[in-house]
Amino acid sequence: MVTSEDRGIVIDDTTLRDGEQTAGVVFSLEEKQAIARLLDAVGVQEIECGIPAMGQEEQAAVRALVDLGLNARLITWNRAVVSDIRASLATGVTAVDISLSVSDIHIVHKLRKDRAYVLEQLKVALGFAKEHGLYVSVGGEDASRADLDFVAELMATARSLGADRFRFCDTLGLLDPFTTFDKISALRARVPDLDLEVHTHNDLGMATANAIAGIRAGARFVNTTVNGLGERAGNAALEEVVMALKHACGIDPGVDTRRFVELSRLVGQASCRPVPEWKAVVGERAFAHEAGLHADGVLKHPGNYEGFDPAEVGLERQFVIGKHSGSHALRHRLAALDIVLAQGDEQRFMARVRCRSQDLKRPLSDGDLLELLAEKFDAA
Ligand SMILES: [Zn+2]
Repeated sequence: MVTSEDRGIVIDDTTLRDGEQTAGVVFSLEEKQAIARLLDAVGVQEIECGIPAMGQEEQAAVRALVDLGLNARLITWNRAVVSDIRASLATGVTAVDISLSVSDIHIVHKLRKDRAYVLEQLKVALGFAKEHGLYVSVGGEDASRADLDFVAELMATARSLGADRFRFCDTLGLLDPFTTFDKISALRARVPDLDLEVHTHNDLGMATANAIAGIRAGARFVNTTVNGLGERAGNAALEEVVMALKHACGIDPGVDTRRFVELSRLVGQASCRPVPEWKAVVGERAFAHEAGLHADGVLKHPGNYEGFDPAEVGLERQFVIGKHSGSHALRHRLAALDIVLAQGDEQRFMARVRCRSQDLKRPLSDGDLLELLAEKFDAA
């Protein structure tokens, strides 16, 4: 497996910025500190932690995160205006993302300006940030819908003014992985000496796939959020991107994945957005097996139907007894309850399990099974 050091991949987790920007989500300072600590503990290299220009309270929160003295670099989000960057400087962070609208649709219909105005904004804001010794990511908002020539021109200008990287944002989540790959490859080729970062949204369910495509095309930095929290349908999920890098791409990003479930639950609770049990990688039932053939296969050898060991992310394998169960899993479950049925009884009991599960529209708990067994033996 290629290590992150070989490719130099850096995860910039933005749960505390884009994640908190989710409509209706607010983190307390204590929650922000707990999330930042855990992100740091698992080895995330960079944490986007807020928007200081929002005001005193946000600035105080960012300062409190700076005071934690984490290994991860903290970075703040800024509009391309000097006052925003001043607010960031006041918090003590050493890195900033300076965001510019780069698509014509945003330049014309949001800013009501032209491309020359955006280039000028870049020069002033980036110049100010570099004068103050900040590490700078130049963020291209709506870059996925922008003219690629203009994006390349902005990148070249940013590079010449000392920018450290360029964030390519699929702000509306409209790209597919093939187009993402093509666009990032083209920008890599045109401005090879400026690192690229991918910031992808999940409006079409492709945030993780697009993040991976961007990395495969040469982006070194990737924006993620825990549980894929974020504006509208959310961002690329940290846990999905990391596990996809490891298991689909053979790249180890150097993150301790064993605490992913703990991290996911923490953010789920703090954001009041409980994690669906079928959520990829960290969902409670992401490793639950019910179907007879699958459960039988897993009991024989977990690798038959598990792409990776659930313990790798802090989950446990579950065997669910329900409508689709087969005799192998049922026997396994009953054995755990110290019950052994004769072979003829087993088939009859299986039929009753299916019937009960159908009636209840859910799998059967151990209590349900014992109850059903009691009924069976009563009847006998
Ligand atoms: Zn975003």
